[in-house]
Amino acid sequence: MKAMLFKAAGQPLAVEDLPDPEPNEGEVIVRVSHCGVCGTDLHSTSGHGMDLPANSQLGHEYAGEVVALGKGVDRLKIGDNVAAMPVVGCGQCEACATGIDVLCTSWAPYGFGLAQYARVSERGATILPKTVSLADGALVEPLAVGARAVRLADPARTAKVLIIGPGPIGLAVLFWLRQRGVENIVLLASSGRRRELATGLGGTSFVVEGDTASDEIRSIVGGAPDIVFEAAGTPGVFGRAIELVRPQGMILGLGFCMQPDTIVPAMALMKDVTIRWSITYTRQDYEACADALDRDGAAARAMVTDIVGLSDAPAAFEAFRAGKGPGGKLLIAPWA
Ligand SMILES: [Zn+2]
Ligand SMILES: [Zn+2]
Repeated sequence: MKAMLFKAAGQPLAVEDLPDPEPNEGEVIVRVSHCGVCGTDLHSTSGHGMDLPANSQLGHEYAGEVVALGKGVDRLKIGDNVAAMPVVGCGQCEACATGIDVLCTSWAPYGFGLAQYARVSERGATILPKTVSLADGALVEPLAVGARAVRLADPARTAKVLIIGPGPIGLAVLFWLRQRGVENIVLLASSGRRRELATGLGGTSFVVEGDTASDEIRSIVGGAPDIVFEAAGTPGVFGRAIELVRPQGMILGLGFCMQPDTIVPAMALMKDVTIRWSITYTRQDYEACADALDRDGAAARAMVTDIVGLSDAPAAFEAFRAGKGPGGKLLIAPWA
């Protein structure tokens, strides 16, 4: 099969031939239809200290059709369409009991979806309704991040909500807020690059950071936001969220910021703010995303700006890294 491999920071990914994968016990083989690319892929291939070893496979947002079953698999059958979890826990420990497999200390990696076939753990596979396309199925993983965050924030329909960072995670939050009937939402961005994309997802107000941004946000939602989703992951944004949220409001941290970031705790204390982070999702969030895509796929599809085959994928990946284009989701279709 053909797969995309990481070679070294500063070099484009390479498309190479690898042996077709074989399923171990409790695993299936999936013929990958579509696999998304996101900021995590950039972090792990950027040369900034978290790089994968040479010749690693990537791809953690994917969906495809089950084509082979390993021993002991009983929930899945040949021909099922599934969205795969890229990290699957042991299923036995206290951490796994939370439903968030990435918290397990002995999780196994299954983030190898940038290839024609992938090994998928039965425990990590969510069966997609046949009415959901496999291209939409590749959106389950990024949407699930937003699903859990919105579930934790539990906004009232009338809540005033600010999303900082209109990247795929911010847009996934927006998608789930809309699913819950929350309308009073504003997006704050460092530039106008994703304005069109965000408006395509439901006419949400869009503010570009600057001197007048705080006033603009308050005038759009009618006061200080009740909930701020931090989905930018850059230093300074948490402090900004504390500044903007209303007293006794909530800040949900989703951004992946690998640099030290300074806040003034007293500013949060004086407002009696609740701050919490949210890492990934549970299996139930995956199922909720499959159902939401079945109901309302078009709303999620609006975040996809490029679909390319494997031959164009290395160049598209580098363009994504360079921040070119409208800034939505890049999907790679390994059989196109
Ligand atoms: Zn991702
Ligand atoms: Zn475990």
